[in-house]
Amino acid sequence: MPWERIIGQQHLQEMLQQSILGARIPQALLLSGSRGRGSLALAIEFAKTLNCFTPTRSQFSIAPCGTCQSCTQAKTLQHPNITILTALPTGKVDQESDFKEDVLEEMREQIAEIAADPYTTFKVSNANLIRIWQIRELNRSMALSTLQQGRRVVIIVDAENMNTEAANAFLKTLEEPHQGVSIILTSSQPERLLQTIISRCQQLVVPPLDDESIIEELLRRGECTEHEAHIIAACADGDMSAALEFIHEDVQEIRSDVVSMLRSALRGRDHRIGIAEASESVAEHRDKSRALTYLRFMSVWLRDTHVIARTGAAELITNKDLEETLVKFASAFGHTDLDRALRCIDRAAYDITHHVSINLTLTTLLMELRSILGQRR
Ligand SMILES: [Zn+2]
Repeated sequence: MPWERIIGQQHLQEMLQQSILGARIPQALLLSGSRGRGSLALAIEFAKTLNCFTPTRSQFSIAPCGTCQSCTQAKTLQHPNITILTALPTGKVDQESDFKEDVLEEMREQIAEIAADPYTTFKVSNANLIRIWQIRELNRSMALSTLQQGRRVVIIVDAENMNTEAANAFLKTLEEPHQGVSIILTSSQPERLLQTIISRCQQLVVPPLDDESIIEELLRRGECTEHEAHIIAACADGDMSAALEFIHEDVQEIRSDVVSMLRSALRGRDHRIGIAEASESVAEHRDKSRALTYLRFMSVWLRDTHVIARTGAAELITNKDLEETLVKFASAFGHTDLDRALRCIDRAAYDITHHVSINLTLTTLLMELRSILGQRR
């Protein structure tokens, strides 16, 4: 029986449920994979199940009842046994009470948002570090006995945000395991964690969600049409949080911008002006995630172009409503080196994520695409 609030990830759900049923509950677990794939959602559901007073169980599955006192507390993440630790804003503070009231309020909001939807991307402004005092406070609290029946679970969200001091202190926490405590780390960049931390955790990889699961969830939430859900899922790279962000963007508008960007990059004359204007228009928003959305749409568009060129099968494309435009694109650019073009787009996304100027990155990319798409294979 799958956990109600988890999207897809049946295999991981089964493994986690089996560990509870078989009393092989890990003391330290690393779920590597982004929040949008469900790493945090799985951690929370695992904690709820461990603490539920009357779980629903069968030979192969166990799920929280959702109604007992423990489940009610867990619903809002106000549970004495469940601690969620996240990055905090920069600044000189040595304990939680040093934060100004507005930051504290934002931190409370973040927990409430996560409780309401563990796939949310909500984040406290400028929160980028997990500090040593947070780990020290955690150690102190773990030394106390549990206040309520069940198992104490500490969830460290995006654990790669621990600074060096915090990571070293946390390593000591892992070296002296506490009875009846499970520590779950989630990380979208596990390569940034200390190897000594990783080696002390049982590691489970949270894979990208399949498009069907994302489409089903988008439709269940009723926030977009079926047609939009298909386009969004194709652009979301298996990440539900990314998909939810796309809902708030104007999918149709960004897509038509992308098509005209490619057109201006590929046309014969005046392409330099076209490229400069197109890059500038995206860069002027100074919004990295918006720029990344453009790049995702660009990849999907080029994939569709190649599907049409290679197979002619319009039922396999994502942008079904723009088939006519795609056919024109495909006849001109469909037989070029798609893999190379996609690699260039991936690299541009990496550059933007790593603070290279949006304008410069897009200009370079469009020039590269012009050169690649201008050559027939
Ligand atoms: Zn319950």
